[in-house]
Amino acid sequence: MAEFKLEAIKCKNCGSGLVVEINDFVTYCTNCGSGFEIVDGVLQPIEVNFASPVRPAEGELIYKPFWILKTSVTILERTSSGGFLKNLFGGHDGSGGKLKFYIPAFRMPVDNMKEMATAFTVKDPVPSPQKFNVKVTGFAYGKEDAMKIAEFLLISFEADKSDTMKTFRYEINVDSYEILGIPFYKLSNGNLKDAIIGLSI
Ligand SMILES: [Zn+2]
Repeated sequence: MAEFKLEAIKCKNCGSGLVVEINDFVTYCTNCGSGFEIVDGVLQPIEVNFASPVRPAEGELIYKPFWILKTSVTILERTSSGGFLKNLFGGHDGSGGKLKFYIPAFRMPVDNMKEMATAFTVKDPVPSPQKFNVKVTGFAYGKEDAMKIAEFLLISFEADKSDTMKTFRYEINVDSYEILGIPFYKLSNGNLKDAIIGLSI
């Protein structure tokens, strides 16, 4: 069994004690709303916000972490004619644009991961996240993982809409990494259902 030690971690901004669970690499100060990524034991500031539940209650409400990657995508070359990405970029000419990825940062089966990341990224259902005085824990995936999943999504958006895709070259730059706490209901059968779109995992 791996050894670990619990350390009392204090918010760099207000000095409050922070809740850090084993393996968490992001922590949020419920006192002042500051977020920190824990990199080699050092607290680096990161934006952490929350989404309000929009679906009615069906169980205990908890918050699960998503990475929000605000990116700039440039399509360098494509031989398919998929219009899907073009729509996502907001009516540009298809050569690229801004794309905000919602990537779950907590553990779930890969099919659920793809479904949930796709649904949230396409809908962009949380345009104005807020500071809440709630706990968000259970981080399983870091920035690098989130970036890989974002690229996988980008390619799948393009591929799903064309059965003849031959070439798709792109450049993706991350303008910012943020954390978004998404509300979920704990259902009586043990599953989780998000309180924004209503997907179950
Ligand atoms: Zn604080």
